[in-house]
Amino acid sequence: MFDNLSEKLDKALHVLKGHGQITEINVAETTKEVRRALLDADVNFKIAKEFTNKVRDKALGQNVLTTLQPGQLMVKIVKDELTELMGGDAAGIDLSGNPSVILMSGLQGSGKTTFSGKLAHYLKTKKNKYPLLVACDVYRPAAIDQLHVVGDQIGVPVYSDKENSDPVSLAKAGIAHAKAQGQNVVIIDTAGRLAVDERMMTEISQIRDAVQPQETLFVVDAMTGQDAVNTAKAFNDVLNFDGVILTKLDGDTRGGAAISIRSVVNKPIKFIGTGEKMDALDVFHPDRMADRILG
Ligand code: GDP
Repeated sequence: MFDNLSEKLDKALHVLKGHGQITEINVAETTKEVRRALLDADVNFKIAKEFTNKVRDKALGQNVLTTLQPGQLMVKIVKDELTELMGGDAAGIDLSGNPSVILMSGLQGSGKTTFSGKLAHYLKTKKNKYPLLVACDVYRPAAIDQLHVVGDQIGVPVYSDKENSDPVSLAKAGIAHAKAQGQNVVIIDTAGRLAVDERMMTEISQIRDAVQPQETLFVVDAMTGQDAVNTAKAFNDVLNFDGVILTKLDGDTRGGAAISIRSVVNKPIKFIGTGEKMDALDVFHPDRMADRILG
């Protein structure tokens, strides 16, 4: 994950890790290289600039020039700032409802259906919950079938009704079904489109207003870099969602989305997807991710 970024940051910090004379120029040089590494990883220009300015100020403020191990101090400063940028502490999800309703949003292909299954599996096996998956994509019968395949794989029931073409009433019927069956979490998989459009936004807002979910989650493909960040912004402007799910972090992704998204939408990344299998889900820990990036 993020091999290229890790390598470049390691190189950038190498100067200060050596035993040569440490000067303000060295620090400036290092932060410039750090900025370049972030830009290469597809981090938004403004964020990269603010980040390196903070790192530089902190480094000079903490007397990195006079410390015995300037390299280590610099790595720590970069790590702390990366952690902060990605959200500080890990964010949980609200399971206080009865049932708790979790609404999934995102573009088609982002990994919504796969993640709905992963989350149901996680809640069932790790949190002792009884989830119900609800298929609300009324436009693509294949999407409904896909959710049933996923549900069968993990042994979680799926509510769908191909006769019903109204996603709002489907979502409500799904919740009523969960109540009747004693299921305490309802995960609603909604329709996505290939690009942000008004109809999709209106539809998901209507579902959200009707079912008042504990969590509205936005799923996005990390491989799409700055597009991921722009899409997140567009969804958040309309939905004011509660958290982000970054999928496909197992692929050849550069890392920009993971690093930038939090500060652009001011919402936490809650989970990451690291594969196609149902157990390829991790709770997102900013500090662990920063550790991983800095190796
Ligand atoms: P949806 O249209 O948003 O519901 O997206 P899908 O759940 O159908 O996922 C689209 C494709 O991405 C499928 O081929 C999934 O197997 C794949 N996918 C989803 N999540 C991940 C992930 O975390 N890693 C990888 N490598 N593939 C994923």
